[in-house]
Amino acid sequence: MKISAVHTHVLDVPLAQAFESASMRFDRRQHVLVEIVCDDGTTGWGECLGPALPNAAVVKAYAGRLVGRDPLETEKLWQELYNLFRDQGQRGLAVTALSGIDVALWDIKGKRFGVPVSVLLGGRFRESVKAYATGSFRKDGVDRVADNAQECAGHVAAGFHAVKIKIGFDPANDLKVIAAVREAIGPQTRLMIDANHGYDVVEAVKVGKAAAAFDIDWFEEPVIPEQLGAYRAVREGQPIPVAGGETWHGRFGFKEPIETRAIDIAQPDLCGTGGFTEMKRVADLAALHGVRVVPHVWGTAVQIAASLQFIAALPPDPPRREPIEPILEFDRTHNPFRQAIVTKPIEHEKGVVAIPNAPGLGIEIDRAALDEFRLKEPA
Ligand SMILES: [Mg+2]
Repeated sequence: MKISAVHTHVLDVPLAQAFESASMRFDRRQHVLVEIVCDDGTTGWGECLGPALPNAAVVKAYAGRLVGRDPLETEKLWQELYNLFRDQGQRGLAVTALSGIDVALWDIKGKRFGVPVSVLLGGRFRESVKAYATGSFRKDGVDRVADNAQECAGHVAAGFHAVKIKIGFDPANDLKVIAAVREAIGPQTRLMIDANHGYDVVEAVKVGKAAAAFDIDWFEEPVIPEQLGAYRAVREGQPIPVAGGETWHGRFGFKEPIETRAIDIAQPDLCGTGGFTEMKRVADLAALHGVRVVPHVWGTAVQIAASLQFIAALPPDPPRREPIEPILEFDRTHNPFRQAIVTKPIEHEKGVVAIPNAPGLGIEIDRAALDEFRLKEPA
């Protein structure tokens, strides 16, 4: 079995209503899939977190090293590709592009042996996972307080046990949103806040102290990801557990945040931090230091399916009769191709998502949908 081709598929759709976090504005959805084809006809799929076109360019730069190689040698290929750009890479696009390739190689490996990736990772601890609803972005000309409260009440009505909302815009207004959402979702639903690194330490400590009264499970990305000292100051200065990691890449990227306890909860993204090969190492590093892992998930059904395979194989930590179960980040924002690109959409039922058990990632790609949503070349 040899790799015969590596393709990228950039999917794109403009949004009628743009939305924004504290750090990013989305006026279109754009994601890139990686397809690796083998000489026996086996095809593996992956996805890269982050900007689609730059990721596609880096995947293409790696592709020449993959053609003719054995796709089952995931560790060898990971090391070789990482080393290719190590001097100027180490994180960012060099690793997000490598992540999409690694996920596709594991999909091939699962198909080759006729088992889901979760079995290759050591076995399935669970067949389903509770999802939490991610949403509540800011929209132009819309009152955030009422809009977020209404949206989150809808997630609770749909069966979600937890919701995560966007803050990091303006501390006073953010606290009004938090209060309104807690009121709307009632005392039983879990609530998380995500500042998308919009605050400085003084603001984050102030918001965290005030928000604690609303029973918040975690405070995500309070400050910019480069400032680990600031993370630690936030963690020490206010009572809500601190989460972060969607922009930290690989075991080297997580080493200092975990070892110096800048976070209580690590949020590596499978399609950004280095694929299955590196994600396992990051999760093991977190377990070594008693840091909880809740994977970050932002993408299409390919990224969701891959994350589900990883979550299935995540050991309970600590082991006990009724262990703390992992939860799945479930993006509820508008994305017309998120589930359209697979023949069987990955949906939730009353806030619970079944983990596919077919070989590889457990999904099949709908090629007609890929064509429909493919980025149109400028005329
Ligand atoms: Mg986030």
